Amino acid sequence: MTDLLLFGPPGAGKGTQAKFLIELLGIPQISTGDMMRAERKSGSELGRKFDEYMSAGKLVPDGLVLDLIEKRLTQEDAKNGAIFDGYPRTVAQAEALDQLLAKLGRRIDRVVSLEVPLEAIVGRVTGRRVCLECGQTYHVRYTPPPENGECISCGGTKIVQRSDDTEEVVRKRYEEYKAKTEPVLAHYEAKGVVKAVRGVGSLEEITERIKEAIGVE
Ligand code: AMP
Repeated sequence: MTDLLLFGPPGAGKGTQAKFLIELLGIPQISTGDMMRAERKSGSELGRKFDEYMSAGKLVPDGLVLDLIEKRLTQEDAKNGAIFDGYPRTVAQAEALDQLLAKLGRRIDRVVSLEVPLEAIVGRVTGRRVCLECGQTYHVRYTPPPENGECISCGGTKIVQRSDDTEEVVRKRYEEYKAKTEPVLAHYEAKGVVKAVRGVGSLEEITERIKEAIGVE
């Protein structure tokens, strides 16, 4: 049983690396950002509420996030652990997650903190493209979407730029990260589960570093 948290600023590569780890570890990725985008796409009232915050680069209030995660953690595929990506983003969320996991006899076993300098972040995020069907990400320079327009993972044909991946919004997201999310690291450092991993280099190199940090071959 493993509960792994991928931590880092926007554009650190959390989602990209999570996709590699799903198969390796046999546990699902839980991305609150992906869940919120799905809700927004459904056109529901809740989705509209998420959008108010997301499009401004602000964090969605903790209470709404807790409702999402409570439902997700009780689903069958997450019973042996999960890869948390982009969650928890505040100390209050981390405390709530610790309590939820404790009820299931689990805890965050490892936090991998992906370290990427600020100069790299804006270029990574503004060049990012994403498949609307499956969430597979690309980068216009480093890993461009296939020329035939079909997603390598699911064959979907809608590969787009996220509306919050503009320079202006990413700067706001980074401010939110510094003010509210970075303290989450100290919360887990106190538990002795954090490993820092350099998040710069090729995708494969970073995956290797993460594997070493979590002790898998
Ligand atoms: P992400 O896909 O993780 O980059 O998240 C995109 C946006 O969704 C963030 O900028 C927030 O507005 C919102 N969001 C995602 N996860 C959370 C969370 N755990 N807490 C608060 N807001 C979140």
